[in-house]
Formats: sequence, C-alpha cells, structure tokens
Amino acid sequence: MVIDVLDRGDWPFPRSLPEFQRRFPDEAACASYLERARWSDGFICDHCGSPGEPYRFANRPGVFRCRHCNRDTSLTAGTVRDRTHTPLSVWFWAASLVASQTPGMSAVQFPRQLGRSRYETAFQILHKLRAGMVRPDQDRIGGKSEEVVEADETYVGGRTRGKGRGVHDRVLVAGAVEVRQRKRTSSLNKRKTGRYAGRVRLALVSDRSAQSLGGFIDGNVAPGTTIITDDWSGYAKLSEHGYSHTAVAERGDMQVAETFLPIILLVFSNLKTWLRGTHHGVSPQHLPAYLNEFTFRFNRRFSPFNAFLSLLGIAGDVTAPTYAELYATKSPPTTSSKLGS
Ligand SMILES: [Zn+2]
Repeated sequence: MVIDVLDRGDWPFPRSLPEFQRRFPDEAACASYLERARWSDGFICDHCGSPGEPYRFANRPGVFRCRHCNRDTSLTAGTVRDRTHTPLSVWFWAASLVASQTPGMSAVQFPRQLGRSRYETAFQILHKLRAGMVRPDQDRIGGKSEEVVEADETYVGGRTRGKGRGVHDRVLVAGAVEVRQRKRTSSLNKRKTGRYAGRVRLALVSDRSAQSLGGFIDGNVAPGTTIITDDWSGYAKLSEHGYSHTAVAERGDMQVAETFLPIILLVFSNLKTWLRGTHHGVSPQHLPAYLNEFTFRFNRRFSPFNAFLSLLGIAGDVTAPTYAELYATKSPPTTSSKLGS
C-alpha cells in the first residue's frame, strides 16, 4: 500500500471475490443495501416527498413507485450507474476495489474476475468510477484556531523519456495538510510524536511567488488556522491574510524540515511514490486529475466505506449505517453516522 502516512485503521472491505459475493449475493441484496444507505428512516418519494412503503417490482430491484403520486424513484438515478444495464453487483465490486485501492488490483484483476466477455464493460466501469474521484474536494481545510496546517511546495517530475539527459518536465505542486494529534492513551506510542495527517489539499502552481503560493493557501485553507511553513518569501504575507503563521528557518536543512514539517513531507513522498508506481510517470496535463484522485483517496483512507458510497454516487447529507453496523448484526442498525470526508 502506498498511502501509509501512519495507520489506516481497519480496512473492512471484502478482500476477495468469494467474500464479496457472500455479502452481496444478488441484485436484491445490493438494492436493499443501497436503500438503507439512502433512506435510513424509510423511503421518501423523490417527486412529491411523501414517506411510506412504496410499490416494489421483483424484476426491478432499486425502483420504487410512490403510492401517493404513482411516480418512480430509482436508487441509482443521477449516479455513475444511471442509464446503464450493468448489474448493481458489478458496480459494487468495482467500487469496492477502487475505494480500497489495492495497487494494480482494480486495473487488472477486476476485468479478469468479470470474465473475458465483459472485459470492455469492466474498463468502462472503472473509468467512470475513477472519473468520480476527479471532482475536487472544494471546502477549505483547517478553520479552528487550535488547528494546525503544514504547507509546503514540491517539484514533481514529469516524463523524461526522449527528452535527453537532465531535461525534465518538472511541475510545481503546492500542498497543505491538517496535523492531527493522537490522544496519549497507550505507552506503546512513546517514541512517536502522535501526530498524523488529517485532510490534504494539493494543486499545481505556476511558480513559487507569493501570488501563487499565497493564492493556493487562500483558496484551500480557512482563515484563522495556524499554518506552519518554511521561511520562503512566498509565504511571508500569510499573517496579513488572516492566518496565524509560523515560518521555520529551514535554509535547506532537511533535518529542520523533517522536524517542523513532517506531515506535509510525508504526503509529498507518498504522492510521488504513488505517481511513479501507479502511473509510471504522469504528463503535466493529466497531473491535476491525478492530484484530485490522490486527494480523494487520501482524505478517505480511514473511511473506505464513505469512499465506496461516494463512488456509487451516494454521498452528501445521506445518513447511512456504517459498514460495521451493517455487518455486525442482521437486524437494522439502531444508530447511524453522518457521511462526509
Ligand atoms: Zn410521490
């Protein structure tokens, strides 16, 4: 696994096709699962807003007809699966693979598991699911005065093949990451600082000027947040923009950088490893999409269940059972959790 900025917590997705098939044996199982994820307190008509048990059709799981206005509501309307005839179970398997990001798994094993005849379908599905990760996370990170965000910038190497020795399509990536602090509950972590990464934001910037870097911070970090950077002039005006700014005199000393900006350096290192390993070098024109995909995965690495639902197009304010609640017992969940990244 590439994204290893400290623990990822549990990884509760079915790890094999047989396990997955036990959990989601047929279309009805998938539909009933989606139904509970979408309407934890029971069906509500999309058209007239009426609650109440709808008409159901044995041959069309996932379609509900309102007893009040007689119109149909589809579980997958407006999602990536909309207007396709691919079975829900196939979408589920694809989304769980993409969400759990086992390296290489989604691209290679999924089509094989579907069978040769459906090779093209598999790639279309994976393509659509990946496209779902390319929508950027928009809201600004940080926000509370006690929250700390580390920010820095790094060069990401582009393709060098055929370009001659020493010539690189290097591009500049700016990054900001929330620094979270683990509660000291165990003596096992004595040697660690207890710091780990919260949400991350990444963007291509044209240069290291105050306009570029300051603009990135303005757009991605909420004012009032405490920001730690090095003492590069590009960050010098952050306190004038409403941030509580700490500039560390790093002067090219990696040890100083690793002491004061450890989390963002770890994020950059993970990003570069992932780009190299997964995409074998990425051309600058495609890099923004890959940055968004990395950000999507990174920000949901503790909640693959949310990534899974988000990929299926079920997100936002939906109140859904958590994965644990869903599988711990066969009875309906008694509590629910708010979705979000
Ligand atoms: Zn209705």
